[in-house]
Amino acid sequence: MPRARSKWGRAVQVMRWLIDEFDLPKNVRMELVDDIDDGQTFGQVISRRGRLVVQLSARACKTTHDYVYNTIHEAAHVKTYKRRMKHDHADPFWLVHGQMNHAYDERGKVESAEYPTE
Ligand SMILES: [Zn+2]
Repeated sequence: MPRARSKWGRAVQVMRWLIDEFDLPKNVRMELVDDIDDGQTFGQVISRRGRLVVQLSARACKTTHDYVYNTIHEAAHVKTYKRRMKHDHADPFWLVHGQMNHAYDERGKVESAEYPTE
């Protein structure tokens, strides 16, 4: 089983797995940025020219756990994304978030390790 060489590589594997498992847009882009909101924000989803971009903050995310579970959080935003509702934490978001967390803990931890790290 290929092992991610970095925490970021692990995040990319998990997102690629989530794209397949939860039918997310194939063109979702992942970006590691230096900082979001002065260290206060772990990740965010932005729209750039019609394409969704998941950004994780290198400043806020410290552990592999941070990288993995913030990737899942942002993937739930991708799944429930609506224009002009960047930080929508209403019930539909948490339903998807819970399903993704559960699927990851049940089998995604193992299955995602087979995905490319970039
Ligand atoms: Zn959120």
